[in-house]
Amino acid sequence: MTESYEAPVSQTLFARAAAVTPGGVNSPVRAFGAVGGTPRFMASGSGPYLTDADGRTYVDLVCSWGPMILGHAHPAVLDAVRAAVARGTSFGTPTEGEVALAEEIVARIPPVDRVRLVTSGTEATMSAIRLARGYTGRAKIIKFAGCYHGHVDALLAAAGSGVATLGLPDTPGVTGAQAGDTLVLPYNDLDAVRAAFAAHPGEIACVITEAVAGNMGVVAPRPGFNEGLAELCRRDGALFVSDEVMTGFRVSRQGWYGVEGVAPDLMTFGKVMGGGFPAAAFGGRAEIMEHLAPAGPVYQAGTLSGNPVATAAGLAQLRLLDDAAYARLDATADELVGLVDQALTKEGVAFVTGRAGNMFSVFFTDPDAGVTEIADYDDARAQQTFRYRAFFHTMLRQGVYLPPSAFEVWFVSTAHDAEAVERIAAALPAAARAAAEATPPAE
Ligand SMILES: *Cc1c(COP(=O)(O)O)cnc(C)c1O
Repeated sequence: MTESYEAPVSQTLFARAAAVTPGGVNSPVRAFGAVGGTPRFMASGSGPYLTDADGRTYVDLVCSWGPMILGHAHPAVLDAVRAAVARGTSFGTPTEGEVALAEEIVARIPPVDRVRLVTSGTEATMSAIRLARGYTGRAKIIKFAGCYHGHVDALLAAAGSGVATLGLPDTPGVTGAQAGDTLVLPYNDLDAVRAAFAAHPGEIACVITEAVAGNMGVVAPRPGFNEGLAELCRRDGALFVSDEVMTGFRVSRQGWYGVEGVAPDLMTFGKVMGGGFPAAAFGGRAEIMEHLAPAGPVYQAGTLSGNPVATAAGLAQLRLLDDAAYARLDATADELVGLVDQALTKEGVAFVTGRAGNMFSVFFTDPDAGVTEIADYDDARAQQTFRYRAFFHTMLRQGVYLPPSAFEVWFVSTAHDAEAVERIAAALPAAARAAAEATPPAE
């Protein structure tokens, strides 16, 4: 389908960007490659709304891919940032703010005794893997197809997110040596994990999994899956690494750990904890974390780690995220899932909703296949993305900004109020019709 609406300023900006930046963007999914059309250059955000460079306003269901859990430009976060900036933006020394943020994380998450702050989720998982290997003295790691852990070389085997969106099997630039110790298994398949441990006893440093798979669309762990991973790791002496970069502080005060109660050896955080700034972390049991430099031999460092502005923003955001905030997020997600369900059902569209806490996404399944569950990457990839494309543009035209890919979560914020929900509800019938009428691209 072609776009029947214009975004001239975004178009001009995108052309300028493409002349100086590969693909015109600094992170691939932003380029709208999966849905076609011109990516909207955003100029400002307020609460649940974004305003693009052409002056059009959208209800935002991306929320910067998760971090903006209080909505855009939240006054308390902005105040904390202004106060921090006024004191100077980076010292390259320890500061009180980073201690306070670490204390907040340790207080919230019982399996985390020690935490190290970094600047991106990628860095958090990369460092956690290095630590797991350094601590166990083992080389191999297990990851799951469709789980994305940032663009860490060793973890870019069968990754989700932009890799899923672009349909790249793997990526050039990652050598056999970098990915050769990575075993990629199907998500939600404990038998496969059992078999891998049996085939490589005493060789596996860690199993890393997204606490909830959220980078192939939302694919919740089956009951007992994460617990089974923890148990298999314990028996073999491997570490269980739960990647909560997306779910951490997003689905409850304690992230997915707070929902399921399965204690990992190491955890990674990002997105929400930075309050819209680059801040991320990894943490776990003291005995493991004390292997990090300068306490121990495993090297890890960062010029801007624990940046005072980022930590101030993150701390201000976390302090506002109490149980009431999560109850509100859950209620908003319930309402939106119900509305989407109603609109798609009315038009006879085949779909499965992925859901975990306030995170959700919609898989447009093959109407002839009778799919009732999406459990892994193969299931997720079998969805009819051409229907999402039609759905996405019909929503966009009506002022609702969805993730520009069928493989991403729809994120809500506490700022999504009745008016924002009403705007989404009003846009859904036409989008559901467009999804129903969509036809596969001629190839
Ligand atoms: C976003 C994400 C990452 C990577 O974080 P960046 O800050 O983008 O590097 C890692 N793991 C998961 C589960 C994520 O969702």
